[in-house]
Amino acid sequence: MNVSDSEKIVTLMKGIGYRQTADAGEADLVLLNTCSIRATAEQRVYGHLGKFKAMKKGKPGLIIGVGGCVAQQEGEKLLKKAPFVNLVFGTHNLHLLQKMVTAAEAGKRSIETDFLDDEKRFDLFPHAESEGGITRFVTVMQGCDNFCAYCIVPHVRGREISRSAAKVVEEVTALAAAGVTEVTLLGQNVNSYGFREPGEPDFADLLRLVAQVDGVERIRFTTSHPKDISPRLIECFAQIPKLAPHIHLPAQSGSDRVLKRMNRGYTGAEYLAKVAALKGACPGIQITGDMIVGFPGEDEAAFQETLALMEEVRYADLFSFIYSARPGTKAAEYSDEVTRAEKQGRLERLQVIQKKTTLQRNESMVGSVQRVLVEGPSSSGDSLFGRTGGNRGTVMPGDPSLAGRVLEVSIVEGLQTILKGEILHA
Ligand code: SAM
Ligand code: SF4
Repeated sequence: MNVSDSEKIVTLMKGIGYRQTADAGEADLVLLNTCSIRATAEQRVYGHLGKFKAMKKGKPGLIIGVGGCVAQQEGEKLLKKAPFVNLVFGTHNLHLLQKMVTAAEAGKRSIETDFLDDEKRFDLFPHAESEGGITRFVTVMQGCDNFCAYCIVPHVRGREISRSAAKVVEEVTALAAAGVTEVTLLGQNVNSYGFREPGEPDFADLLRLVAQVDGVERIRFTTSHPKDISPRLIECFAQIPKLAPHIHLPAQSGSDRVLKRMNRGYTGAEYLAKVAALKGACPGIQITGDMIVGFPGEDEAAFQETLALMEEVRYADLFSFIYSARPGTKAAEYSDEVTRAEKQGRLERLQVIQKKTTLQRNESMVGSVQRVLVEGPSSSGDSLFGRTGGNRGTVMPGDPSLAGRVLEVSIVEGLQTILKGEILHA
């Protein structure tokens, strides 16, 4: 989400004469797009700000702006704490950014953190530049209504608002015309797309509309909430050939007691039933997820239930996090915090198990033929990098001119973090 917002910020700044630089030391304008999902992400913001403050000493004209979730949360406090910051923009205020930067050029400090009401919601979805790229994000919704007990997102990104299907299709069509091969439809909970907008299609129908756009060869989406993934959406994996066989479906825990306290709206058994339906509709689908360890009240038995759920799903990959109390959330009021040592121990045990599963799954792909979208040169520069439909990173020898093509690749080696392959037909 933040990568996508940063792309939009770059597009907006180009519109008022700025150009992007990879060297912060060279910049006349620094915009920090922030995340507050866990305390560590928030602390990093203050680390970066210290660095930019020092830069500004040697370059007094430097304009510094802070946006995103920390800006939304801190608002005025941020301007007070950091007098060298020129502008603070919240998660609903990207459309005001050009005006704010222009004001800062004239020496005016400003702050905009109001949430937009339904009337103005279309301002929430500025396009990123349509030029270039092989794979691009397209935002379909903003915000979240779920209020999971641990999560700050609904507090800093506001209520769920879906973009009109016509606008989504318009942006995908423009990207396809600019040569983009793959789009990822983006939202905090794409499965509830359209729930609050009478007249808009649901997410399954939105996928069908996007699949009709010529030129786009592959569609992905993220993130899915298990409680809202419908049989109609699961069917899409069987019926839409362009839909990549991958789903990110965070469980967060395998314990019914913990899931209830997290306010997730499903049990472990209900989650597993949806996983089984996905595997039935799309044999070979790659499932990834998120898991939190050390949520208040999680004891060893509950943690074992998480490990058991992982064993059953056999995730291709898993993002795992130590629970971090966030201000203003329901869980921040819970007193039965798990000790730091226990949280750390559980995270390490979980990650050892997941690493083994990931390696086994990657090894089991040796000998298979995968359709790989070539994204460009690999990080070492001597081969190509691409992704399978299931979103597994793959390196293979080949000519850089193949970037943007979906090719049949025979997998010859499965390593911990990457597959190695050979192109069958170029
Ligand atoms: N909307 C998405 C969902 O529900 O799956 C993703 C939300 S969040 C940006 C990404 C992940 O961060 C969550 O799935 C969760 O695992 C993790 N997360 C959120 N709040 C957290 C917290 N307070 N402590 C630790 N991890 C957290
Ligand atoms: Fe946070 Fe839950 Fe919403 Fe995801 S669904 S953004 S975890 S509140």
